[in-house]
Amino acid sequence: MARLAEYRAKRDFDITKEPRGRLNRAAGKSRRFVIQKHDATRLHYDLRLELGGVYRSWAVTKVPSLDPAVKRLAVEVEDHPLDYGTFEGTIPENAYGGGTVQLWDRGQWRPQSERSPAKDLEEGHLKFELDGERMHGGWALIRMRDRDTHRRQARHNWLLVKERDESAIPGEPDALLAASTSVKTGRTLDEIAGGVRPKRTKRIAAARAKPKTVKKKVRAR
Ligand code: MN
Repeated sequence: MARLAEYRAKRDFDITKEPRGRLNRAAGKSRRFVIQKHDATRLHYDLRLELGGVYRSWAVTKVPSLDPAVKRLAVEVEDHPLDYGTFEGTIPENAYGGGTVQLWDRGQWRPQSERSPAKDLEEGHLKFELDGERMHGGWALIRMRDRDTHRRQARHNWLLVKERDESAIPGEPDALLAASTSVKTGRTLDEIAGGVRPKRTKRIAAARAKPKTVKKKVRAR
């Protein structure tokens, strides 16, 4: 439970509809990832990688860059429960993280090396592949040096960098700004904030049309 202590301490679950969540050690083999676009005090993109029963999380201050030459600041934040991976909605203004949350991408991730990704993160350098609806191919998270070396910072700054591969678009760091709707409900941030009901996205419609066995295989974890 200790891993979610900070997450819970920051939130009043009588006010916010975010999940309390629980540690899910059984899901150790699964490596889901999500990105939640969060229109809070400052708009940012919360990158979450499933690891050790929680989502390790970073707040990326701008849209992830598809140009390998343009690095994005990713501020490490508290681990989030796996239940958080489907959360979309509005957090009241007076609550922690007040603002609108949109499920912007989702899929699977895998480390590029055979090494333990937990150890790679501990050492401040993780290379990984994303198989999402919007994010693809190779990426790297690189921890920056603490400004004050005498005091261990609680929150580390990292850089999120696209690797040079076929899914990179050199010269177009903001290409993903065009992706403005939810991968879960098809809604824009304004529509989520305004309480517009979820739309049936193409992907949802396609999944429903498929026979059950195929759906099971895709969802196996
Ligand atoms: Mn956030």
